[in-house]
Amino acid sequence: MKRVLSGIQPSGKLTLGNYIGAIKNFVELQHDHACNFMIVDLHAITVPQEPAALTEQSEAVAALYLAAGIDPNKANVYLQSHVMQHAQLGWLLTTLTSMGELERMTQFKDKSAGKESVGVGLFVYPALMAADILIYNADLVPVGDDQKQHLELTRDLAGRFNHRFGEYFTLPEPYIPEVGARIMSLDDASKKMSKSNPNPGSYIALLDTPDEIRKKISRATTDSGREVRFDPATKPEISNLITIYSQCSGLTIAEVEQRYEGQMYGPFKKDLAEVVVSVLEPLQQRYREIRESGELRSILRQGAERASEMAEKTLQDVQRLMGFVGK
Ligand code: ATP
Ligand code: MG
Repeated sequence: MKRVLSGIQPSGKLTLGNYIGAIKNFVELQHDHACNFMIVDLHAITVPQEPAALTEQSEAVAALYLAAGIDPNKANVYLQSHVMQHAQLGWLLTTLTSMGELERMTQFKDKSAGKESVGVGLFVYPALMAADILIYNADLVPVGDDQKQHLELTRDLAGRFNHRFGEYFTLPEPYIPEVGARIMSLDDASKKMSKSNPNPGSYIALLDTPDEIRKKISRATTDSGREVRFDPATKPEISNLITIYSQCSGLTIAEVEQRYEGQMYGPFKKDLAEVVVSVLEPLQQRYREIRESGELRSILRQGAERASEMAEKTLQDVQRLMGFVGK
């Protein structure tokens, strides 16, 4: 059975981009793969997080995973910080990583742009992400388009380790959806939708109320034309909304275009809001049940226990191959 690893940062409220680009695929892959789905809290602190918010957001991400359909009996669901071997292997891989490689990461450039002070953690975290993946020798990593470059770095680091210390790591493949791998911001279709965007109007949070969703979609920017047509180059805003429609309704992009042929943006946006609400309302209901059940912490503990076994074995193998003295 192929091994799968992925994670989401508890750095804000999960968005529809996280759902379409990542979580939907987690749910599909769990049936016939050995899956580990983390809440990557060690990644989240690469930008400042208020402690109480970090706790709340971490539990919210875990509950949203389950509400979206991840079954903790099929997949390990846990907090990255509960399996400390990630940080340990992260350090070992950091020593194999060059400054130049990290400087080329577009996510680092985006997140550090215009900041007075940039944390070292933000710079080196792709090596920790490589450790997250390699510690389970994962074959597949379901992620959105923006993580492609980090995956390439992971493959380079795995290859470099194998070359220097002996064949050990599997080179992981990204698993990126054909449609929906990059959902764009509602207020600016040149930027991806992000949970850490300070403008809540730029994203639909998975826990937004139906009215908030309707309001945000009605205010989403569009071009001044009137055709509901998929053409990302000349109509990026409408194309993004068509993608969301398609991903939430199960219709193909062509079917969405056909349905709104000859119609204006207004009715299209109104229907889109209802399509999104119809996906998120039941998810939110399950989310509330999970939060109220009081079972979350024990699910996370069990997930971490199961994941730790393999992580510890890998760490020991890697240390031995690198020449560390065994205990
Ligand atoms: P942040 O702004 O804090 O980085 P984020 O929204 O980018 O938050 P991450 O935790 O960095 O979320 O990413 C979690 C997963 O969601 C990754 O697999 C990422 O590729 C995917 N993802 C993030 N944003 C989008 C998007 N706009 N469209 C599709 N997938 C996305
Ligand atoms: Mg991100």
